[in-house]
Amino acid sequence: MKRINEDEGGNKSDDLNANDANGTDQESPEMIGGQECPMCRQNTLTLIESERDIPYFGKVYLFSMSCSNCKYHKADVEAENSGEPCKYTFVVENEEDLKARVVKSSNATVKIGRIGSIEPGIGSNGYVTNVEGLLNRLKHQLEVIKETDDDSGSVDTARNHLKKLNRVLWGSESIKIELIDPTGNSAIIHEKAVKSKGK
Ligand SMILES: [Zn+2]
Repeated sequence: MKRINEDEGGNKSDDLNANDANGTDQESPEMIGGQECPMCRQNTLTLIESERDIPYFGKVYLFSMSCSNCKYHKADVEAENSGEPCKYTFVVENEEDLKARVVKSSNATVKIGRIGSIEPGIGSNGYVTNVEGLLNRLKHQLEVIKETDDDSGSVDTARNHLKKLNRVLWGSESIKIELIDPTGNSAIIHEKAVKSKGK
């Protein structure tokens, strides 16, 4: 199983707004510039804070900080109704399932079939996206491995996983997604998603 390091790779556009067609559930973000960066210590850090109402889940607060000098970036989400550790299991079976909303905090572990996992850690970010966005992050990482890894074994594996992932993204194959969050700030929001107590 490939462990995905979110620090690599650039797909950061959905940290603050996942492709929302209407966009009405997002309030205008509050920005505070000129803050000291924890990495390079320059006053080039911008903090962005906003909140969103997620249907069938509740209010979430989104935070991010970006440094224009050293490119340090960190984002996270916090649910207003967070509490118990949680685990969600969701089987993606068709194109419609790809639209299921996902709230993922930086403390969450996401397992995507036998293809790979997104682990918590220093480089881990929190974001609101949907299943398609989650799979596309993994796809991007696999593409990087395919292009840059010099171990032919892992390149073959990445190529096979990409094929599988593409079939899931086309809606022609199913995959099981598990989302585990000890802080209870994460969710997969869909009537088919099974919620149980996390460890
Ligand atoms: Zn910096």
